Amino acid sequence: MIGVGQAAAWTFGGRSINEFSKHGNHEQSSATWFDGKLFRVLPAAFAGELSMELSLSLITIHATVQAARRWARTTCCAWCAIASLEHRFVVLHHAARSLEMLSGRPHLLGAKSTEHLRDLMTDVHVSTVVTQPYRRLRNGWFHLGLADIAHQLPSDSDILTPISLYAGVDPLELDAFVDLDLDAVADGMNTWLLDPAKDGNTIFDHLRQVAIQKVVDTHAPSSSASGLVIGSLHRAGTAMYSGASSICT
Ligand SMILES: [Zn+2]
Repeated sequence: MIGVGQAAAWTFGGRSINEFSKHGNHEQSSATWFDGKLFRVLPAAFAGELSMELSLSLITIHATVQAARRWARTTCCAWCAIASLEHRFVVLHHAARSLEMLSGRPHLLGAKSTEHLRDLMTDVHVSTVVTQPYRRLRNGWFHLGLADIAHQLPSDSDILTPISLYAGVDPLELDAFVDLDLDAVADGMNTWLLDPAKDGNTIFDHLRQVAIQKVVDTHAPSSSASGLVIGSLHRAGTAMYSGASSICT
């Protein structure tokens, strides 16, 4: 996982693209794929209480959080490790902020969903990241620039300096906090997602596991593997994957 800051450093540093491509997370770990029909899967998700649009939005947030937990980390160099932390922090903040905004719209939720969302937002980790000082860190570090702390920035500032100036923690503390918080969001959303509908069915009663090689063989043997999987799963209706151990067990 390579961040914008990393790309800029390489660009302005005059490094070659070949050298650039060696960095980042090249982990080839497997993902477990499922497919099913949207009109069957979505009514069984989130206790069967949400609209199709809201269910799809929450599944997207959930998948983004799981992907960040699993793949947005690398040890190739300090720059990439920092870029990975930035990415995980932004994903976490936006996911938690989205859930917070949804909690202010109870008319969109049923009784069980209200309870799940309340549990999520009262989790000390999830509720903390949407408040100060982490909100200031997100805004300053990634959105509004550092003008408000310009007078505090030492001459040898780097991309890590705003962490302590905004949030009052060192990068290792932030890293640990972000991982704990991503776990809390993922686990809470997972529990909510898998709450069965009134008929007792969960999404997995309407999904079947797909071997990627089997999809390749069945649907488009002459295409490249990556394009194939996407095309086939779209035809099937929907696709989900296990970005981490807790999502699909
Ligand atoms: Zn690197």
